[in-house]
Amino acid sequence: MNIFQEDKQYIAGTYNRFPVDIEKGKGAIAIDSNGNKYIDFTSGIGVNIFGYCDEVWTNAVSCQAGMLQHTSNLYYTKPCVELAKLLVQKTNLKKVFFSNSGAEANECAIKTARKYAQDKKGKDYYTILTLKNSFHGRTITTLAATGQDVFHKNFTPLTEGFVYGEANNIQSVKDAVQQNKLAGIMIEVIQGEGGVNALDASFVKEVADIANKNDIILIVDEVQTGNGRTGKFYGYMNFDIMPDIVTTAKGLGGGLPIGATIFGEKTADVLKASDHGSTFGGNPVCASGAVSIVKRIDENLLKSVCEKSEYIKSELLKTKGVKSVSGMGLMLGVEVECDTKEVVNKCIQKGLLVLTAKSKIRLLPPLNIDNELLKEGIAILKQAIQEVLV
Ligand SMILES: *Cc1c(COP(=O)(O)O)cnc(C)c1O
Repeated sequence: MNIFQEDKQYIAGTYNRFPVDIEKGKGAIAIDSNGNKYIDFTSGIGVNIFGYCDEVWTNAVSCQAGMLQHTSNLYYTKPCVELAKLLVQKTNLKKVFFSNSGAEANECAIKTARKYAQDKKGKDYYTILTLKNSFHGRTITTLAATGQDVFHKNFTPLTEGFVYGEANNIQSVKDAVQQNKLAGIMIEVIQGEGGVNALDASFVKEVADIANKNDIILIVDEVQTGNGRTGKFYGYMNFDIMPDIVTTAKGLGGGLPIGATIFGEKTADVLKASDHGSTFGGNPVCASGAVSIVKRIDENLLKSVCEKSEYIKSELLKTKGVKSVSGMGLMLGVEVECDTKEVVNKCIQKGLLVLTAKSKIRLLPPLNIDNELLKEGIAILKQAIQEVLV
């Protein structure tokens, strides 16, 4: 049996995989077991922000693995403190809790908002407002936070205490604040899985003001938008707001699982000993890799992310069959006049990996992809769109 058949036999069928078996990679190039090369505009869904097997990251991770791979959170370890300190310096927030994934980072944020509100306002202040079309994870609680019915069906009852506003409809947020005893408001500044839609700047600002005035914890889910992806260190930094909690994962670890919940002034000391925990959270190998990544997300890198973004947008917007390009930095959604799935498959045949989000083609290339490869990949995408159009 080949790998496709064995996968089908032994692995739960939760993924619609493309018929590509990736064996190794270097930078923005993925290589399958037959030696075929693909320019990778997916970064493992925004994870490998410095591409495959980046040397600095590989060194950091392998050195740490040879020294101390894990100990319990009952003891101190240096890499996780170093990482927390870096994240605090980059954000001006105060403290960090480490976990292993985006969903876990969000769970921690939700627990914290609830504890803050219940301590301060009373037991019945537990409701969290999120937005329709959002995505916050797949645990029963983060599914409840996810404002999309398609993800809910078959899994009810979900965790109670979630209500949904409408993106860019500030009245819907005001109504929800009136009608519910809110503990928190959680938003993605660019809805990633929902179709790479950036929220309006005025909406984000008003939501932040409302949260602040009503002492409601503002949580920004930066799992996908975080760690340089949008051209700023965190996506919210494009919007002139200060969240009470920022959650992140995906790109933070550069390829190993790590989640972080970063607390501001109000929330830094809400969780006390035994309120929360994680066996693997802050694991030294993952944290060492993350330190090597975060240190390199500097002004130069962010500037080049913006330049690459402008290049992609200008190339695609003059391409026949492209209706619009949404998103920021190297998190872009391409709306095309033809079938998205067909374009993705054409791209694979031509040696380019791209993602989809709702009806768009989603591009999340490594932040340090070199300009030649970027150019080559965009040329393939344009060609694929032309071939599917006719
Ligand atoms: C991917 C994603 C999550 C879930 O992250 P996992 O690591 O898969 O749990 C949550 N929120 C957003 C915005 C995401 O893009």
